[in-house]
Amino acid sequence: MACYDIVVIGGGPSGIAAAIELVRSGFTVAIVEKSAYETDRAGEVLLPEGCARLSYLNAWEAFLDDGHVPSWGIRSLWGNEPPFENDFIFNPYGNGWRLDRTRFDRMLVQVAAGAGVTVLRNTQIAACEFREPEQWRLSLRAGSGEIHETAARFLVDATERRAWLARRQGSTRRTLDRLVAIAGTRIQMREAEPNHLGRGGPGGLVVCGEFARATSNCGIYDRRRPDSEADVG
Ligand SMILES: Cc1cc2nc3c(=O)[nH]c(=O)nc-3n(C[C@H](O)[C@H](O)[C@H](O)COP(=O)(O)OP(=O)(O)OC[C@H]3O[C@@H](n4cnc5c(N)ncnc54)[C@H](O)[C@@H]3O)c2cc1C
Repeated sequence: MACYDIVVIGGGPSGIAAAIELVRSGFTVAIVEKSAYETDRAGEVLLPEGCARLSYLNAWEAFLDDGHVPSWGIRSLWGNEPPFENDFIFNPYGNGWRLDRTRFDRMLVQVAAGAGVTVLRNTQIAACEFREPEQWRLSLRAGSGEIHETAARFLVDATERRAWLARRQGSTRRTLDRLVAIAGTRIQMREAEPNHLGRGGPGGLVVCGEFARATSNCGIYDRRRPDSEADVG
């Protein structure tokens, strides 16, 4: 049975950053990630402040090699007019980036593996319980269907809003506002289909069509049509 000091559940940026920091501190660490980093992920603007974190994680060179698109600012609509403008020319960290999030996460997890973190991709947690003396026991189901028994002294729940572990421990969600997020994965913007979500170019998430107008009150920006309305942050 594999045994780690810490198992991090969820291999997004938070889980990966935590795992790198923990392995640097001398712990044995594994990340359990249910996906194989093969599908689109939401969240495509890396603010300039994030670049400093990438350097700290020793991921900056790998990030630069990955061909993301520099961003000089964002204009966003959060329910109010006029749009909020954040021009990065005033930022001491320089420019931001428009990310391909899937590629970004894949790069980060490779950096984690290089730092000594065991990365278990395409792996689901079939069972999880706390047993005396002070150990978590996990049954991990690999993509092949094979089950591996694993033990850990500590678990980190980095499954974001799913809060997989916290919910299993009885935590409940408290809704504090009515913020709604819409993410699209289509590459082509087709005029003939008004009710679809689309992506306006490399890393440019755009909510478009009548659906967007009805649900988010935000404009449409198509980088191929400079006269179009507004970039959605
Ligand atoms: C529509 C939208 C747009 C956004 N735009 C931006 C933006 O432009 N810039 C920005 O900085 N942020 C943006 N965000 C926020 C950003 O996506 C999140 O802050 C960020 O992804 C959080 O990272 P994380 O590692 O905590 O979670 P995630 O990135 O969600 O990673 C969680 C990981 O856990 C895995 N997982 C989940 N459940 C399990 C399980 N049971 N077992 C194993 N693995 C599991 C998932 O597969 C995933 O890899 C956006 C979010 C949304 C929804």
